[in-house]
Amino acid sequence: MHPRCDNPKVADAIPQSWLFVMKSDEARSWAANSGYEDSVGLYYSYDSNVARSSRVAIGDLIVVRHDDYIAGWGTVESIDVDPNATKDIRRCPRCQRTNWYARAKKVPALKCNGCDGEFEIEDLIHESMPVTAYRANYAGSWTEAVRPVSFRDPLLTTAQTTTDTFNAIRPLDPVRLTKLIEHISGQDFSQPLTSLELAGHILGGGHSLAIVRRRRGQREFRFKMMERFGERCAISGEQPAQVLEAAHLYSYAARPEHRSDGGLLLRRDHHALFDANLVTVNPTTWKVEIAPTLRRYETYAAVEGVELQLPRKMLPDRNLIESHYRTSLEMFDRAAG
Ligand SMILES: [Zn+2]
Repeated sequence: MHPRCDNPKVADAIPQSWLFVMKSDEARSWAANSGYEDSVGLYYSYDSNVARSSRVAIGDLIVVRHDDYIAGWGTVESIDVDPNATKDIRRCPRCQRTNWYARAKKVPALKCNGCDGEFEIEDLIHESMPVTAYRANYAGSWTEAVRPVSFRDPLLTTAQTTTDTFNAIRPLDPVRLTKLIEHISGQDFSQPLTSLELAGHILGGGHSLAIVRRRRGQREFRFKMMERFGERCAISGEQPAQVLEAAHLYSYAARPEHRSDGGLLLRRDHHALFDANLVTVNPTTWKVEIAPTLRRYETYAAVEGVELQLPRKMLPDRNLIESHYRTSLEMFDRAAG
């Protein structure tokens, strides 16, 4: 945890805009430092070794990329500074460079890009480097992206004013950023906003979202489902991006992976009822069935017997649907009996 200090870096006139790139642990296996404890939607950690680290200021607009997708955006509300931090640098035992990477299947587990050396994690040379550590906090203004924008999407690549793909903090063009934020927020700003106006829009727009700790990969799973199915609920068809959620067809706790045929994109209320086994899908007819207790609600009675609104080849795994269906029928009986 960083000590809280008064920070001199308050944007004096025009807020800047930055892309913060965050990687989850699996995705940063290449990283030769020990990694930062980042929390999407709350804060961003970096240190003086990172290019542009000293330029980030309170009031700046930030867009956060988490692994392959934009996760959301916010403004920097405060910056914690620890001038006496250290960073653990892990170097190749042969050439001392840091551009080694982890191999998934081969032994030894690591290979160096610098000298082609192969070695194990315990062979790495550790070096403690003194740095100033920063934590930019943005939880109060954080807004989740409702639509997928991958790191390859022109909406993002054209908003970046540099072509670098290495640095974790990258400057963004405030005018082009408007289009990006319009898209990921599902809102129409009708004219380009400056980063100051965008920041004001965030703070004044009533987006005081509660921070929900998401399961690892949940956001990315939702985005992949949206790329697969479009902005459509499998039960009720086309819906605004803001109300679409990705439902798992299996216990994510028992098997923590995200399979593309292991989920459905559902409107938020349908998702809640599906998770509660009050709404299910017949694996033979692919039609929706609802609990008898739901029949008194006009909106839910209306989905009974509706066929899943998906092309045949995009239907989810039948075994998974069957297992959900069986559990649901037991619940229906219990509720009725
Ligand atoms: Zn090497």
